Amino acid sequence: MSTGPEQAFDYLIPDELSGEILPGRRVYVPLGRSNRRVMAYCVAVERKEYGRRKLKHVLASLDQQTLVSSHMLAMTQWMAEYYLASWGQVLEAVIPAAVRGNAGTREVTLLSVPPQVAMQLSTLKLTEKQQTVLTTLAAASKPMTPGDLADKCRVTQAPISTLRKKKLIAAEVRRVSHAHFDDLDIERESAKSLSEDQAAALRTILAQVKAPQPKPILLHGVTGSGKTEVYIQAIQNVIDQGKQAIVLVPEISLTPQTKQRFASRFDRIAVLHSHMSDVERHWQWKRIASGIVNVVVGARSAVFAPTPHLGMIILDEEHDTSFKQDSVPRYHAREVAAKRAELEQVPLILGTATPSLETFYRAKQGQYELISMPRRIGNRPLPAVRTVDMRYDKTTGYRGAISRQLYQSIQRTLQQEGQIILLLNRRGHSTHIQCPACGHIVKCPHCELPLTHHITDGSTVCHYCDFRSVAPRVCPDAKCGYSGIRFSGIGTQKLEQEVKAKFSSYPIIRMDSDTMKKPGSHEAALEKFRNQEVRILVGTQMIAKGLDFPNVTLVGVINADTALHFPDVRAGERTFQLITQVAGRTGRGDLGGEVLVQTLSPDHPAIEAATRHDYALFAERELPFRRDFQMTPFAHMVRIIARGPTQPSVELFMQQVSEEITRFIAEKGGDISQQGPAPAPIEKLRGNYRYHLLLHSFDRHLMRAAVLHCRQKITVPDEVLWIADIDPIDM
Ligand code: ADP
Ligand code: ZN
Repeated sequence: MSTGPEQAFDYLIPDELSGEILPGRRVYVPLGRSNRRVMAYCVAVERKEYGRRKLKHVLASLDQQTLVSSHMLAMTQWMAEYYLASWGQVLEAVIPAAVRGNAGTREVTLLSVPPQVAMQLSTLKLTEKQQTVLTTLAAASKPMTPGDLADKCRVTQAPISTLRKKKLIAAEVRRVSHAHFDDLDIERESAKSLSEDQAAALRTILAQVKAPQPKPILLHGVTGSGKTEVYIQAIQNVIDQGKQAIVLVPEISLTPQTKQRFASRFDRIAVLHSHMSDVERHWQWKRIASGIVNVVVGARSAVFAPTPHLGMIILDEEHDTSFKQDSVPRYHAREVAAKRAELEQVPLILGTATPSLETFYRAKQGQYELISMPRRIGNRPLPAVRTVDMRYDKTTGYRGAISRQLYQSIQRTLQQEGQIILLLNRRGHSTHIQCPACGHIVKCPHCELPLTHHITDGSTVCHYCDFRSVAPRVCPDAKCGYSGIRFSGIGTQKLEQEVKAKFSSYPIIRMDSDTMKKPGSHEAALEKFRNQEVRILVGTQMIAKGLDFPNVTLVGVINADTALHFPDVRAGERTFQLITQVAGRTGRGDLGGEVLVQTLSPDHPAIEAATRHDYALFAERELPFRRDFQMTPFAHMVRIIARGPTQPSVELFMQQVSEEITRFIAEKGGDISQQGPAPAPIEKLRGNYRYHLLLHSFDRHLMRAAVLHCRQKITVPDEVLWIADIDPIDM
């Protein structure tokens, strides 16, 4: 495959196609010795000397309209270079399949009988089937699709087509109507008068809006400091200038609450999310490209929204890992947004209560403007956070997920009519199934990772590959067969049971990816919590972010250590973020709030800093460590991952990669340090053995060159697949 933007080829444009072939449109060209006809993107049209090179001609043009603007071409070229993908791959990823495939043709055709035809139905000479079709359609209360009409009359499409040709049936192509925001009755809200912090933040942002080459802005505001109102008033300014804004939020935050907040303030917004149909997506893309949309709100890929006059990009919860795509091209929306903002000379606002160290470091270096909003709206205090040392409870033989302290706090909160959020970042019932007689642990046959017991259907599930089997009653080890197999480790299902048993008279709801499978279930659950039908909300990290419920006065973190002991540079950072974010869900109203964090490591710096709401303290401790170990944000990192069905071939291949890099550096000079190769933390996944190699360097270009060098030099065995993940976020 191709290796980067150098993969652009020159073709001649035949006279009859000149004017039709423009940058950002697609063409058919002959490729290779066999002159295969392939689809390609035109990235530039130039007049130049091509000397004695034999150039081929473009065969045909495919688009009547430009799919990719010049800015977007420049941005995708940058992405291809930065993420070591081919430009073509990046373009394919950026333009929704629906748009490339002209999904518009799959819009619905609606048939009706023109009035003048309907009046003279009886006088027409028709076959019996045609007669049935026409009378049925004329009698219908609204237009019908050809499919529905054929079904109703029990005929094929033939008589319908004939009638359409004779113009006895009129056809109209229409987009299927979905619930759009503009269609809904949204209660209008007016601008809030800003707090001092908000007003100062807005002034700084507007100064950047006016700047000729705006600097990105880190809006570091504690939870409940009113960041959204700042975004909204900044966007208003952009719209007043006839421009558009893009607001990127984590997928999980695309709740009705988020949509509502923007839709109640702006006309003509477009919401992009991953559950849209092709037709819907295509329609939104066209709407946005036409310039009619003022504000685009969407998850990661909305960074590619084709706004013709972009005025601002906002990335809310900039630290969120869902902004990184985990398939080719493995881009991070934050980096892409920064590039797009630079190309289109618009400000980028990165908002969060817990900045990623990458962003924070850039702000400290002066690359980004830093705005702080350290106070909550109305000077509400941040909630008091206490740790509960679970080591103590272990020694007294206490069992269960809820400590005595947490139990008492829950009881008090319920008596005071408050609401409670309990966070546990593990779904399922028991997370550990082991035979006490022989020690056998029940594992996934494809991944060799412990299976989790799900009581809802009595299965054991692999949380990595979704392998399912019936939960064993006896030890599956043939030599043992002991009947007292033990289910331990606590997941959200078990926590839910415990809460139900302990607080039986209070309604509770569980939110995790198991209960939230059906579209709309997320919204429905949150609505029940909002209207206080439900008093206790139990769930995984999906409940830790963005929710704004003033009646929540208690948050319990069941196990703060779940992320802490991962072999990942960001383990501490993730833990700090998770605790801070979930703590931020409480004390948002006038009722105050408290947070209890259960942990076996109460003295861990990340947990300690989180209990004090002290981001600066966290960063101060973490940054020197990152510097000493040559890690992000100081050095660049690339993670190379290889997988294959047999362990020796993968291991051997990775050894070659490592040696090749060492050789490359010896020749070229410079410094790349290598960690590994070693089996990946998830060593076997879906039947494939996995190895990884982490590269660190202060020189990004050198690492890129090293990876490209490996791609050229090493013959990859057929069964081995390898990728290079630039700025990896999973280790
Ligand atoms: P953040 O995103 O920083 O966590 P939010 O934007 O959710 O904070 O704001 C917290 C709460 O304060 C929301 O309920 C919001 O409506 C309210 N709010 C924001 N700005 C103001 C203001 N200037 N005056 C009154 N209430 C405000
Ligand atoms: Zn598995």
